[in-house]
Amino acid sequence: MTTLAAIASLIILGYSAFYVIMCAQFPFGHCCRCEGGGKLYSPFSRKVFRLCPRCEGTGRRVRIGRRVYEYLRGEYKAGNR
Ligand SMILES: [Zn+2]
Repeated sequence: MTTLAAIASLIILGYSAFYVIMCAQFPFGHCCRCEGGGKLYSPFSRKVFRLCPRCEGTGRRVRIGRRVYEYLRGEYKAGNR
């Protein structure tokens, strides 16, 4: 039982380290609404589209981890003025 818990915590630790590196290197992820295209197509025609309202046509979104990082950095700067 303890070995299982140790393995599970190792996996979680490894995954969070990977996620932190990903957020630092690639702050933008694909928009999940338009899948990175920036356009939403009409279900009837591939020629009719509008810009994705979620990412405003950029096809990118800021990762949640990056937002946390920027928030923490802002707090740190505010505290060290
Ligand atoms: Zn989008």
